Amino acid sequence: MDTIQNNAVATVHYTGTLPDSGEVFDSSEGRDPLVFLVGHRQMIPGFEEEMMGAKVGERRTFTLEPERAYGERQDENVTTFPREHFAAVEAEVPLEVGMTLVADMVDGPRPFSIVEVGDDTIKADFNHQLAGKSLMFSVEVVEVRAAEDAELSHGHVHGKGGVHH
Ligand code: ZN
Repeated sequence: MDTIQNNAVATVHYTGTLPDSGEVFDSSEGRDPLVFLVGHRQMIPGFEEEMMGAKVGERRTFTLEPERAYGERQDENVTTFPREHFAAVEAEVPLEVGMTLVADMVDGPRPFSIVEVGDDTIKADFNHQLAGKSLMFSVEVVEVRAAEDAELSHGHVHGKGGVHH
């Protein structure tokens, strides 16, 4: 198996850039490459679509509109909380707009950023920080191998770059 396809384990180096500003928002340069199981929803949908059929050594550059990246921003993901809920945090550090925190929700931890600090309320934005943005990726395929049965049943990669258990 030497091309990216469903049920392959792909190893890639990548750089993600915001096409409007040229700002790099994420990159594997200088780090270990990214390893993922193809076709198991580990990646944003457009990333896999654009890399399908790519061979080892091949580099592809593409731009994803928000629908194929982190989706559009949703107003209902912005919530106002009583400021007293943040008393424990505020005892440690002053609350500021742009600060990122993690809330313990019934369905697990969810990161959010503070968008407004009021006298009695805090406005929190649970949208992904890249929601509503077009993203440009430059991706180079380092290695492709067939996934093992255990990886397919678990839905993630084992070993190097993956889950160790
Ligand atoms: Zn596993």
